[in-house]
Amino acid sequence: MRMRETLDFLLFDWLKAGDLTTRERFAEHSPETFGAVLDTCEKIAREKFAPFNRLADTQEPHFDGERVHLPQATHDATRAYAESGMLAAAQDYDVGGMQLPCVIEMAGNAFFSKASVAMGGYAMLTSGNASLLMAHGTPLQREVFAKNEFAGRWFGTMCLSEPQAGSSLSDIATRAELEDDTDPLGPRYRLTGNKMWISGGEHEITENIVHLVLAKIPGPDGKLIPGTRGISLFIVPKRLVNERAELTGERNDVALAGLNHKLGYRGTTNCLLNFGEGRFTPGGRKGAIGYLVGKPGEGLRCMFHMMNEARIGVGLGAVMLGYAGYEASLDYAKQRPQGRPMTAAGKDAASPQRPIIEHADVRRMLLAQKSYVEGGLALELYCARLVDELHTGDDPAGAQALLDVLIPIAKSWPSEWCLEANSLAIQVLGGYGYTRDFPVEQYWRDQRLNMIHEGTHGIQALDLLGRKVVQQGGASLAALAARVQQTIERAIQTGWAPQANQLAAALAQVGGATKKAWSTGEPEEALANAVPYLQAFGHTVLAWLWLDVALAVSGDSAFAEGKRAAARYFFAYELPKIGAWLDVVARREPLCREVQADWF
Ligand SMILES: Cc1cc2nc3c(=O)[nH]c(=O)nc-3n(C[C@H](O)[C@H](O)[C@H](O)COP(=O)(O)OP(=O)(O)OC[C@H]3O[C@@H](n4cnc5c(N)ncnc54)[C@H](O)[C@@H]3O)c2cc1C
Repeated sequence: MRMRETLDFLLFDWLKAGDLTTRERFAEHSPETFGAVLDTCEKIAREKFAPFNRLADTQEPHFDGERVHLPQATHDATRAYAESGMLAAAQDYDVGGMQLPCVIEMAGNAFFSKASVAMGGYAMLTSGNASLLMAHGTPLQREVFAKNEFAGRWFGTMCLSEPQAGSSLSDIATRAELEDDTDPLGPRYRLTGNKMWISGGEHEITENIVHLVLAKIPGPDGKLIPGTRGISLFIVPKRLVNERAELTGERNDVALAGLNHKLGYRGTTNCLLNFGEGRFTPGGRKGAIGYLVGKPGEGLRCMFHMMNEARIGVGLGAVMLGYAGYEASLDYAKQRPQGRPMTAAGKDAASPQRPIIEHADVRRMLLAQKSYVEGGLALELYCARLVDELHTGDDPAGAQALLDVLIPIAKSWPSEWCLEANSLAIQVLGGYGYTRDFPVEQYWRDQRLNMIHEGTHGIQALDLLGRKVVQQGGASLAALAARVQQTIERAIQTGWAPQANQLAAALAQVGGATKKAWSTGEPEEALANAVPYLQAFGHTVLAWLWLDVALAVSGDSAFAEGKRAAARYFFAYELPKIGAWLDVVARREPLCREVQADWF
C-alpha cells in the first residue's frame, strides 16, 4: 500500500475535499483537477527530487569565499517545481496562481517533502515569503517582489533568528535606520546586524534572493525598544532592484559569513548572514537597504500571519520523512530472511528462514510507524482543511478556535513521533539501517531538525498549556472537546465502543490535568511540565483522529484492515501512555523546577 492511496482516501473520502469545489473561490476546480495537481507533484517529486536526495546530502553546499555551490540536481529540481506553478498554488488567478485550497496545496507539497525535504526547502520558503508579502506588502512590493517569487525568478528567505536570539525573538538586535521614506518600493531603511540559521540564505539557484528580515527601529533616544513591540519587518533583496523589477546591477550589503554544517537537511543551505557590515556599499555607503513591510512595530504580527500554514507545513514535512522511512523499512522487512518460527517443540533449523515481517516484534515496529505516519498525515490534512474553513467556510470563528489548539500539536507531534518512526525504521533494518548504504539513517537525520525550528518543542508546549487551552476561558479547548465528543458518540454505536470509552476517559483526564496544572494560578508551577502535557494532548488528539478515520473505513480489503489495525494499535499501545505524562502535570510535580543547577 503506497502513500498515494492513503492520501486520496483521507482527502476525498474522509475530509470530503471534493466538496470544496462548491465554494465560489474553487468553483473552476473539480476532484479531477485536484487529482491532476497531485499526479503532477507526484511525478516531479519521483523524477526530479527522490533520485537525488542522497546526492543533496553527500554533496553538501560548499562556499568558496565568493559563491555557494550546490549540485546541479538541486537547480534542476527547484526549476521543475517552479515551472509546475506550485509556488503560487493557493494564490489568485490574477497573480498567476491556481486558487487551490490549502488542503490540496499541502497534499501536493507532501510528495516533495517525502522525496527530498532538503531540496524542497527553497520552494517552501519562497512560497511562504511571497504569500506574506501578498498579505502585508504594498501593491508595488507585491508586484515587484511577490510576483517574481511566485514565478520562480527569485527565491525568498525568512530572517528572524540571531546568534543571541532564537526562542526569545524580543531580544533581536538588528537595527534599521530610516534613510528615505519616499522610496516607491516602501520606506527605505539601512539595516545592520547578524542573522543566524537562515535557510536558503545564499545560493546561485536564482538571480536574486528576497530576504524578509526582522529588525528594530530605534526610538527617539537612539536605543532599541525592548520586547516585541519594537520589531518591524523589511524586504532586503540580495541584489538591488528598481520599480520595474529589473536588477540595478548593485549588490546590497548582505554578506554570507559562513555556512552551518548540519546533522541533516544538508541540501538546503543554512547561513550566518551579516547585514550592513560594509562588505558591499550600495549607494556609496555601508548598510543593507531594506524596505519596510506593514507598519513599524508590527513585524512579528506580519511574520506570524502565515503561522498556521508554516507550522502545518513543518508538521507535514515531518510526517513525510516518517513515511519515507516506513515504506523503506516495510519493503526491507518483506525481503529480509532471518530467524525461524518458534514452536512449542523449539525451532526447526532445517526449515527455511522466514522474512522478518513474520516476527511479531517487527510487525510491532511497522504498526507503530504506520500509526504515527498515517495518523500524522490525517492530523496535518485535517488542519489544512480547517485553514480552508477559516478562509472560505461559513464558521471561520469555529475553525480558528480549533486551529488555535491544534497548531502546536500539528507542529510538534509529528516532529517527535515521526522521528520515533524513523528510529524504528533503522531498527527494522538492523545493522544495515545504521549504515549510509541505506536511506533510513538520512531520514532520521533530516527529521531531527523538526523539534528545533519553527518554535522548539518546549516553546510549542508553553504555547499550548500557557496560552491556547486557557484563552477565552478555555473556549478553544471546549471547541475541540465538542468535536471529539461527536466522534465518540458515533463510535459508541459500533464495534469501536471500547475505544470510544477509552477516548472519553482520556479527554476527561486531559481536561482534569489542565485545571489542576493551573489550580494555583502560578505560571512557573503550571508550565514546569508543559512538554509531558503536550505529549498527552497530542496522543489524545491522534487517538481521536484514528477513531474518526476508522469509522470512515468500510469493507474488508487489506487497505481497510490495515487502517483498522493501526487504529487499534494506537489505542492499545499508545494512548495508555498519557497516564504517566498527565500524572506529573496534574500534581504539578516540582522536581524539574526545583532541581538546582549545581546538582547536575
Ligand atoms: C537547520 C535550521 C534551519 C533554520 N532555519 C531558520 C530560518 O530559515 N530562519 C530563521 O529565522 N531561523 C531559522 N532557524 C532557527 C530556529 O528557528 C532556532 O534554532 C530556534 O528558534 C531555537 O533557537 P535557538 O537555536 O537559539 O535555541 P534556544 O532558543 O537557545 O533554545 C535552546 C533550548 O532551550 C529551550 N528554551 C529556550 N527558551 C525557553 C523557555 N523560555 N522555556 C523553556 N525552554 C526554553 C528550547 O526549547 C531549546 O530546547 C533554523 C534552525 C536550524 C537548526
